Amino acid sequence: MANTPITLDPLTPTEADRLRRQGGERYVADAHPGFPCRQCLRDAAIGEELLLVSHTPFESDSPYRSASPIFVHVDDCGSPDSLSALPIQLTRRQLSVRAFDRAEMMIDATVVDGADLDSTLEHFFDDTETDRVHVHNATRGCWATTIIRG
Ligand SMILES: [Zn+2]
Repeated sequence: MANTPITLDPLTPTEADRLRRQGGERYVADAHPGFPCRQCLRDAAIGEELLLVSHTPFESDSPYRSASPIFVHVDDCGSPDSLSALPIQLTRRQLSVRAFDRAEMMIDATVVDGADLDSTLEHFFDDTETDRVHVHNATRGCWATTIIRG
């Protein structure tokens, strides 16, 4: 079953605003890339301000439930340009890619170069048990996005 259609499910503007109100560590991007915003899925330009906050991408009380550090732009930055194409923010980093079933139990996981994310997703979604895939930065562990079928 090749080419399973996928949709990115990044941090929603509503959740991002909740995290902004809650507050976090403030950063000014001094390198590019290096400060990936998980709402708009862009790497901040040098000089842009971000907050480092903690986010839980899980919806249930799965044993895997955990929070990850993420950057969001300080101000609302809108939605990604596309929810069907993998952004360069993902494809140029080393990633930890984790497949979950409907109960949010992990059923597969691997570390890949971002250039191989597409084929990894295809492989994971070939398994009909795979409901969603979490993508993290392999090195620092930041949750990058969730990817769902359809
Ligand atoms: Zn942003």
